[in-house]
Amino acid sequence: MSAETSSSSSPTSASHGPAERAAVIDHAALAHNVNTVRSWAQPAQVMAVVKADAYGHGMIECARTAVAAGATWLGVAHVSEALQLREAGLTTPTLAWLHTSGTPFGRAVEEGIDLGVSGWELDAIAEAARRLERPARVHLKIDTGLGRNGCPPEEWDALCARAAELQRPGLIRVVGVFSHLAVADEPEREHEVDAALNRFHDAVALARSHGLDPDLRHLANTPATLARPDTHLDMVRFGVGMYGLSPFAGEGPETFNLRPVMSLTTTLAANKLVPANQGVSYGYRYRTGAATRLGLVPLGYADGVPRTADEAPVWIDGRTYRVSGRIAMDQFMVDLHTEEQEIQVGAPVELFGPRSGILASEWADAAGTINYEIVTRVGARVPRIHVNREAARRGAEEKK
Ligand SMILES: *Cc1c(COP(=O)(O)O)cnc(C)c1O
Repeated sequence: MSAETSSSSSPTSASHGPAERAAVIDHAALAHNVNTVRSWAQPAQVMAVVKADAYGHGMIECARTAVAAGATWLGVAHVSEALQLREAGLTTPTLAWLHTSGTPFGRAVEEGIDLGVSGWELDAIAEAARRLERPARVHLKIDTGLGRNGCPPEEWDALCARAAELQRPGLIRVVGVFSHLAVADEPEREHEVDAALNRFHDAVALARSHGLDPDLRHLANTPATLARPDTHLDMVRFGVGMYGLSPFAGEGPETFNLRPVMSLTTTLAANKLVPANQGVSYGYRYRTGAATRLGLVPLGYADGVPRTADEAPVWIDGRTYRVSGRIAMDQFMVDLHTEEQEIQVGAPVELFGPRSGILASEWADAAGTINYEIVTRVGARVPRIHVNREAARRGAEEKK
């Protein structure tokens, strides 16, 4: 993190001392990552994917910084997320792609939110447009192999025909065709990406043969944006990389000139001397090898720290230790391997972030999951503290 933090944006303040717990969100890093991806992707546009509260980083704040840094689109899963962006005053083009029969399509049309369509949604959306006398903006989604939503290739012709029929009287406007990749994060599976890309191009050609004229063809997520320039097309949908996380196993964000945005921090809540063979936490899954001090870290699985992250790294006051024993709901312990009280209660603790150099992916490895899940699940009990917002804006101004 930048050494320069103003008092208004610092995670500490003179009157309150260090925040008890915080996910510190560095907006200078976020803006840097958006600029990095813009330079990689251009002339393709960048959609900043801010679903799931911007992967746990704070949706509204991150969307503002991403747009200031040059993202021209915002992407979310749910219409309800897109509506929150509009309520916050963000008028940037926004796409939502995961709907249910309860999705408020009418509200989306009123607010000019673009809608991903895989099949059944098309007529429901056209019905809302008819009622409101306002055309709905639609991106048709083809399943190029992922097997989740997306129109199966066998039904694509019929979907395009129906879309053309609804576009003629002006009920909808098909502005985009898109798909989502399944294996772009595994570079050795390039042939499967090739196959998906070919299916995508075929689908666009078929849409055009129906008289549709989608301006925006988009396929790439973060791994494809970084590894497969041939998938950039008209726009990339950039999620995890924007938060400074690498989607590739065994390759860190620095390989791609990306900077981690979130630091998960707290302070040491206790430091006590215990004898050898002391059982530690539920189940006594850890026992001290010698007389030692145990440090108490006041973050647990209620805060999103995975219970399964045995022996994950923890930085305390300049040194890296390991989780010792079961992670509980509110806390876990760390064997400090010394009998001396070298570390005071209140000392800074970081689970991951640039200060410690620990990556969210190290916690993910310890827990048997991926870095996406580590940051996205940081709990509501942990305040997000946004820093370097002014620096991010200034940097954006200078680039314009
Ligand atoms: C979440 C999501 C993305 C972003 O993926 P990253 O790997 O985080 O970049 C892109 N497209 C769709 C459809 C998604 O659901």
